[in-house]
Amino acid sequence: MVKHETTLTFYGGVDEIGGNKILLKDGDTKVFFDFGMSFAMKKLFYSPPFLSPKSAKSLQEFGILPKLDGVYKFDNEEPQVDAVFVSHSHLDHSAYLSFIKREIPVYCGETTRTILQAQSEIRRADLEFNIEGLNFKTFRTGKKIRIDNLEVEPVHVDHSVPGAYGFVIHTTQGSLTYTGDFRHHGAKSEMTDDFVEKAQEADVTAIITEATNMTGASISSEQEVEGKLDAIVGQADGIVLAEFAYADVDRFNSFFRVAKKNNRCLAISLKQACLLESLRADKGLSLPSIDDESILLFRKSKATSYKWEKQLVDKYPDKVKGAFELSKQQCGVVLAMSFYDLEELVEIQPKPGSCYVLSASEPFNEEMEIDFERLVNWLDHYGLPQYHVHVSGHIMPLQLKTVLEKINAKTVFPVHTENPRLFGRFMRNLKSKVILTEKEKEYKI
Ligand SMILES: [Zn+2]
Ligand SMILES: [Zn+2]
Repeated sequence: MVKHETTLTFYGGVDEIGGNKILLKDGDTKVFFDFGMSFAMKKLFYSPPFLSPKSAKSLQEFGILPKLDGVYKFDNEEPQVDAVFVSHSHLDHSAYLSFIKREIPVYCGETTRTILQAQSEIRRADLEFNIEGLNFKTFRTGKKIRIDNLEVEPVHVDHSVPGAYGFVIHTTQGSLTYTGDFRHHGAKSEMTDDFVEKAQEADVTAIITEATNMTGASISSEQEVEGKLDAIVGQADGIVLAEFAYADVDRFNSFFRVAKKNNRCLAISLKQACLLESLRADKGLSLPSIDDESILLFRKSKATSYKWEKQLVDKYPDKVKGAFELSKQQCGVVLAMSFYDLEELVEIQPKPGSCYVLSASEPFNEEMEIDFERLVNWLDHYGLPQYHVHVSGHIMPLQLKTVLEKINAKTVFPVHTENPRLFGRFMRNLKSKVILTEKEKEYKI
């Protein structure tokens, strides 16, 4: 009898934040964990919208999309992969599902599928984000999914988007675990505790862990964020402009509660409203209805509307406000907006006493720095002070060390980090052996 070999190969997420594509082979069984877009690799060659990849061939030319047989919809081979498991909906974990053969099953949480579907309604399908025809199979925490030699157990974790999972995977050579993206300081830290407990029980031999925050770590929590937002909104006597990730439901809830408490409305974009409508059906998430008296829908001034936008406007005619209307009720509004909505300020004309709250990560690359300079120019022009109130979606180094000590796997593979060497040195007194992964190299477990 041929002895089974179980191996891991990392096709992305190595020396970079995101782009995770991890292949687990167990004998003849092959399963990918995540199939994300590598923003770091892409920006080495492309500068959208004017220099954008035109085809999968272009992406493969530069190694942005790995060269694999029997995986992509554009090759004519039989599928050579049994399944793809997606940890959560962030594009650095999910976007390149676009290229996956439609007969290969894609397992993800129900919430993840909802978010991906809402996103595909909101933005037009393009080369790098097209989920049409994917063979989704959804799970909830605790379900066990058998894929030939493997049994995969998704366990919820806390992250900056709902529906995030880690996986405990039982192979013919013992068990291993993959954290996906996770943290221990969010609104639902007990979910991360559940994950750690499951991994401990399974006595895993290997752990693949995210290690995003090895520099610039900070101690805070979503609760603290809410408290700070309350202090800001409570003192402001003009409009409060707020930038935060539109799929970050915890942050949305923090802003919503703070707006309500301070007798303001939270005005959200139609895009965010569309996502909330879809997520409202999810019983696991406690989200207010768009009908709530403290919610308004902000419609940007533009010539044309998409179908989904028209539907929302028809459904909530009294809720929809444009920049001109908001400019008349500045003290009663917290306006969720993004960098790309700044043009609306020309109509709003923020009053003295207004302010801008950046509730997302600070710029971490050159392009973001340039945009940030532009943002500062806008704020300067309108006399808007800027507050930074944020907490990361990723676990902090000392907490991660505690988690790794508890799980106590034989080997640790850091992914989703620009600092694997620092991680290795920081973790050098663990009983586990840290392996600094190389891209496309096969590791036996
Ligand atoms: Zn990520
Ligand atoms: Zn993420």
